[in-house]
Amino acid sequence: MIETSNHLTDSLQKYFGFDHFKGNQEEIVRNVLEGKDTFVIMPTGGGKSLCYQLPALMLDGTALIISPLIALMKNQVDSIRGYSQEDEVAHFLNSSLTRAQMKAVKDDITNGKTKLLYIAPETLTKDENIEFFSNVDISFVAVDEAHCISEWGHDFRPEYRRIRTMIDAIGKDMPIIALTATATPKVQSDIVKNLLMRDEKHFVSSFNRENLYYEVRPKGKKDQVLRSMIQMIKSLPDRSGIIYVQARKSTEEIAQFLNVNGVKALPYHAGLDPKTRTHTQDAFLMEEIDVIVATIAFGMGIDKPDVRFVIHYDIPKSIENYYQETGRAGRDGMEGICLAYYSYKDILRLEKFLRDKPVAEREMGAQLMQEIMAYSETTGCRRRFLLHYFGEDFDDQHCKGMCDSCRHPKERVEVKKEMQQA
Ligand code: ADP
Ligand code: MG
Ligand code: ZN
Repeated sequence: MIETSNHLTDSLQKYFGFDHFKGNQEEIVRNVLEGKDTFVIMPTGGGKSLCYQLPALMLDGTALIISPLIALMKNQVDSIRGYSQEDEVAHFLNSSLTRAQMKAVKDDITNGKTKLLYIAPETLTKDENIEFFSNVDISFVAVDEAHCISEWGHDFRPEYRRIRTMIDAIGKDMPIIALTATATPKVQSDIVKNLLMRDEKHFVSSFNRENLYYEVRPKGKKDQVLRSMIQMIKSLPDRSGIIYVQARKSTEEIAQFLNVNGVKALPYHAGLDPKTRTHTQDAFLMEEIDVIVATIAFGMGIDKPDVRFVIHYDIPKSIENYYQETGRAGRDGMEGICLAYYSYKDILRLEKFLRDKPVAEREMGAQLMQEIMAYSETTGCRRRFLLHYFGEDFDDQHCKGMCDSCRHPKERVEVKKEMQQA
């Protein structure tokens, strides 16, 4: 099926109410509509979901959307239902559903009412589901957050490596679209190989986020860091932000400190029960609180467009993680501040965690850490550094003072000395 440009824009307007495609969405949608394998590399906030949602709505049959997190699925299904008249158009299938709910979902699929089915890979593995999908009309398979396939990615999930086997078990010729915000060549080739993609067309967008300001400060004593953080937050007219830390205990401590100082904050980590976590997430989205203090368990796919800052109280363990996490700031296109605190002590602490790991993992971890150290200590343009890491050339001139090195070059040289002494 070949769609004319007008036709696609009409559908975009009809289903989503948008007037224009963003970036290369249109070419991607066309490739999927033509039934070809498609590989999309687009930064967070670039608009990846639409690349499979629109063709899913336009084609006959149900698209299977493989997605790693239950919270993420719900978020996406709610958002697509928001655009549509009928709730049946999108469903999710995962372990949180009762048997009766699962049956209702499957009935909607059989009756051709469901265009998008979000599904966790572990749900897809079940024999009864494989059999069910062999007997219904599937338009294509979308693998969202496809970097989960790769051990080199920032969020490896072993069950993601079994997607190809499951597609084969369903036994149909279904085109695949894989999507990720991870641009490193190793991760990309892992994805293509593992999914056995055929003649896939690659769509790579620029990773430059012009509206994000990058800064790294040396991490001194704790109360000093807390004070510098609160000062920064209070200087902003809109205080919505995320603070990332390594330890669960720090989430509680820092949230408490912020509250005492007049900034509404809640902790978020994997040790909290799901109900509390959902409540915190909603409170953040509804702006009942300003700040979430989180371990890395928070944020994947959560779409709050007006996050004004992302602070790394502890340096993350890779550039990949750092880029992903800072990418949650400024999705609305307005300025977002990305501030990280760095001390060599934190690197040593991260190294300690690696000690008990198998050799391969240890070596990989050490390499990733070298890179985040180099980023933290550089006196060159941070934007150039990040983009270079993702294989993109970038001329400092275009940073326009949107990193500390470009904004205050002299101070950066001084700060570097301080960092190396810390
Ligand atoms: P990603 O998955 O790449 O991080 P999303 O798919 O979550 O990005 O999209 C990010 C934001 O961009 C969403 O709020 C979405 O509604 C918006 N968006 C996507 N495509 C368009 C478009 N063509 N026009 C306007 N807004 C868009
Ligand atoms: Mg996404
Ligand atoms: Zn710069």
